Amino acid sequence: MDLSRSFDVVIAGGGNAALCAAISAARAGRSVIVVEAAPEFYRGGNTRHTRNVRVAQDGSAPTMTGVYDPDEFYDDLQRVTGGQTDEPLARLTIERSGELISWLGEQGVQFGPPLGGTLSLGRTNAFFLGGGRGELNSLYRMAAKLGVVLLYDAPVVSLKIENGFFVSLTAKIKDELHEISGRSLVAAAGGFEANIEWLRRYWGPAADNFLIRGTPYNRGDVLRMLLEKGVMATGDPTQCHAVAIDARAPRFDGGIATRLDSIIFGIVVNKSAQRFYDEGEDLWPKRYAIWGRLIAQQPDQIAYSIIDSKSINLFMPSIFPAITAQSIGELADILGLNHAVLDQTIAEFNAAVRPGHFDHTQLDDCSTDRLRIPKSHWARTIDRPPYFAYPLRPGITFTYLGVRVNHEGRMMMSSGQPSGNMFAAGEIMAGNVLGKGYLAGIGMTIGSVFGRLAGEGAARHARN
Ligand SMILES: Cc1cc2nc3c(=O)[nH]c(=O)nc-3n(C[C@H](O)[C@H](O)[C@H](O)COP(=O)(O)OP(=O)(O)OC[C@H]3O[C@@H](n4cnc5c(N)ncnc54)[C@H](O)[C@@H]3O)c2cc1C
Repeated sequence: MDLSRSFDVVIAGGGNAALCAAISAARAGRSVIVVEAAPEFYRGGNTRHTRNVRVAQDGSAPTMTGVYDPDEFYDDLQRVTGGQTDEPLARLTIERSGELISWLGEQGVQFGPPLGGTLSLGRTNAFFLGGGRGELNSLYRMAAKLGVVLLYDAPVVSLKIENGFFVSLTAKIKDELHEISGRSLVAAAGGFEANIEWLRRYWGPAADNFLIRGTPYNRGDVLRMLLEKGVMATGDPTQCHAVAIDARAPRFDGGIATRLDSIIFGIVVNKSAQRFYDEGEDLWPKRYAIWGRLIAQQPDQIAYSIIDSKSINLFMPSIFPAITAQSIGELADILGLNHAVLDQTIAEFNAAVRPGHFDHTQLDDCSTDRLRIPKSHWARTIDRPPYFAYPLRPGITFTYLGVRVNHEGRMMMSSGQPSGNMFAAGEIMAGNVLGKGYLAGIGMTIGSVFGRLAGEGAARHARN
């Protein structure tokens, strides 16, 4: 492979955003190279773990279950971010999301019926047949067909940027450094979630107890280099998407099979056997993404979801079996919790539960009365053995600190000027749209929409 030639478009990263950009630039007739840090088997970063993409649509897509109009999408985004979103970029993302089913379809991506489970998303999210890996394989196949050069096991280790203008990048391939030059750059190399030292800057030693749900390759090196070279930052570095996952999950790449949706069905206690948050505050799809942060704030970043036999079959289970005991005392012993305190926490909770009609698909009337920390919905006594517990840790999905972009996906420099030839897409710029909070499936929406915009923009620049 001749890496000494100059490419029209150089793309750092190899996930969904990178491939959407690569295909768009190649379709515009440009020469394109994708420089991916991971070996071929692990190509595609966090995208490998995804299942769906959120799209505004009129209900005509065969795999979707109803209309999801752009205004409703925008309202949902407003609610989860508390208004912390760049409105023009958010509206652009939503408007262009309407094209994604057909555009991705043209690249060979197939969609299937919505998956069930605790998050019901059939109306708002299109599900990839074969999941994120299926989506990626289709995009990689199309990129190869269009002549895109694909480099694996090639982490970008430095960037040559002069006055806001990309000149070249250096990738490390088999211990050798290779400089790859191009007329424009698309940075699509993810966030910094897999970089524990970087997370420690904001979270302190708590970060050592975080588990990273996705790729170990998203260490934020490209993001850091861009910020050091004068690209404007966006997003709060402490904000990220973090959910409760099984504490037995591996440090990296545990994926979706380690997420725990048992929380609304029982109580959650910390290592002092005390409850610390309303487990039934709102419908699970609107609350699942706050639990990673809540657990991160607990001592030693550990918590336990406790349910009884009434609920064990009501949620998608973790890949690890529940810890099971015939009595609360036995459960406390296995979990290493103070027996008497756990007994008291559960006795107080049970005594506060008011009768109601249990229905976990809606905000039911099963709540507690006069508890310091209430449970607002789905409160049922925990009294039918066997008892079950799952240990929980913060599972970090992706971070929100990123590079600032404009409506073309073009990076903004800290001077306030747009870069001449640098574009960004995906997690590395998601903080433009996600100031905080999360809406299931919007990671792939942002990556696909801005991947296309960045690829088209980079191709346009390279032609001029
Ligand atoms: C378990 C899990 C489930 C998820 N489910 C969904 C879902 O169903 N729907 C949804 O919308 N979102 C989901 N997300 C979020 C989603 O994965 C991301 O928003 C999306 O994949 C981001 O795409 P991306 O291309 O920006 O990043 P990635 O897909 O992570 O790609 C980044 C790429 O950059 C590469 N890279 C990193 N550093 C370098 C470097 N120095 N040099 C070269 N390459 C580098 C990485 O190897 C990787 O290939 C999920 C995430 C996880 C972890």
